[in-house]
Amino acid sequence: MTEKRVPVALVSGGSRGIGRAVVLRLAADGYDVSFCYQSNEQAALELEKEAGELGGRALAVRADVTDAASVKDWVARTESDLGPIDVAVCSAGITRDNPLLLMSDEDWHNVLDTNLDGVYHVCRSVIFEMMKRKSGTIINVSSVAGVHGNATQSNYSASKAGIIGFSKALAKEVGRYNIRANVVAPGFIETDMTAELSDKVKKDAAKQIALRRFGRAEEVADLVAYLASDRAGYITGSVFQIDGGITI
Ligand code: NAP
Repeated sequence: MTEKRVPVALVSGGSRGIGRAVVLRLAADGYDVSFCYQSNEQAALELEKEAGELGGRALAVRADVTDAASVKDWVARTESDLGPIDVAVCSAGITRDNPLLLMSDEDWHNVLDTNLDGVYHVCRSVIFEMMKRKSGTIINVSSVAGVHGNATQSNYSASKAGIIGFSKALAKEVGRYNIRANVVAPGFIETDMTAELSDKVKKDAAKQIALRRFGRAEEVADLVAYLASDRAGYITGSVFQIDGGITI
């Protein structure tokens, strides 16, 4: 009888926020998990230890998702240290908000490079091996801003809408290889990203949310873990809003 291989998950932007919760959830679910971070080494090393204590192997790698070569190296290291990648989750993302009139070229390009090119680089780096093995699942983290648009976030909304179009096209391309690609579109989630908002903005936002509270990263991780699992075996090309009802 052949022994079943431990599944391997790759998570971009895993050191903090939603990505961090996904790393811990997938580690608890029995995956070996490789995650990348950009600069916050301390958070990454602490998480590597915490995830490793959940039973499987955990690997933290500094990799910049805006840089194709850096992502390729991270993916190659993951495959050689942990084995073939079964699940890829793209969570790395940034905001640089401003009304369009005040938007700098730098803020426009940084957000597009990180949020959209970053997803392209990760998916491009994992897809061939998944196609060869006729198995794999991809979950890209967009935002309700990518579905509905958000004032002062033209750069961010464009990047997140781009992720949706990209993921739907990919789902159509690789479905025949038994690869699924889905999108998670969170509303306001309690992470460092939303901690930057003023108390007034947070209070006003909460009033627009049917459930009257921000979501928790763990709640998004639950959805990602479901989409990664065989229980979601017939779901592909879909966009799942997880927003407490802010868009109803
Ligand atoms: P966060 O707490 O600010 O964490 C961002 C993560 O991305 C960190 O791990 C960071 O690494 C990593 N990262 C940023 N730029 C990177 C780069 N160039 N290369 C590699 N890693 C990079 O953000 P979050 O709130 O968890 O957001 C995660 C995702 O959810 C993002 O795509 C965001 O747009 C989306 N989202 C968030 C919310 C929300 O309310 N929080 C709502 C909707 C969508 P370092 O630790 O090294 O900086």
